[in-house]
Formats: sequence, structure tokens, C-alpha cells
Amino acid sequence: MITVKNNIIPFKNFTALTLWPFIFVRKDEEKYYTDVVERHEHIHGEQQKEMLIIFFYLWYIIEWFIKLCYYHNSITAYKNISFEREAYANDGDFNYPTQRKHYSWIKIIYS
Ligand SMILES: [Zn+2]
Repeated sequence: MITVKNNIIPFKNFTALTLWPFIFVRKDEEKYYTDVVERHEHIHGEQQKEMLIIFFYLWYIIEWFIKLCYYHNSITAYKNISFEREAYANDGDFNYPTQRKHYSWIKIIYS
């Protein structure tokens, strides 16, 4: 993946955003771009590849709306999107991005 450091993408107060094959990192948030965050973004990169990017974002937004209705809290809804559940659960595992099975996030949509 190609890391692009800038002050435009993502929005202020966010550290990084993946749009495969790029990881955009805000320069003013760079101190928060740790190995764990980098691995988290790599997991999203793998998810995006298997969802042909566009379907990743469509699914992401639809699932966020559904979980927003369920949890009534935008942050809780975000953290429970299946892509985020997989990434947060495994971003501490050094080997995970290369060893994960395709579509692993499907198993944890409702867990
Ligand atoms: Zn994430």
C-alpha cells in the first residue's frame, strides 16, 4: 500500500483513511499513526480489495445506518460495522493482514 501524507484527506481530527491502494495520513495527526493504526488500515485495504472498493463503501454506509438505528449512537454504530470489528479485533496482530481469510468480516456482522 502507498502512504500519502497530507493535510486534506482525511477530515480534521481523523488520522488515516484507506482508499486502496492508498493510505491517506493527515500530517497534523501523524503522531497518532502508530504501527497498530497502520495495520488497521492495511486490514481495510484487504477488505476493500475483496469488495472491489466501491462495494466496501456501499456496504460500510448501509451497515452503519442499520447499526445506528440499532445502537442510537454514531460512534458505537461505527465501531460495530463488521469491517471495523475485524480491523479493531486484529490490528494488534503483526501477522494478521497477511494471514487473514477472505471475507472474515462476514462472520462478525452480528456477534
Ligand atoms: Zn477502521
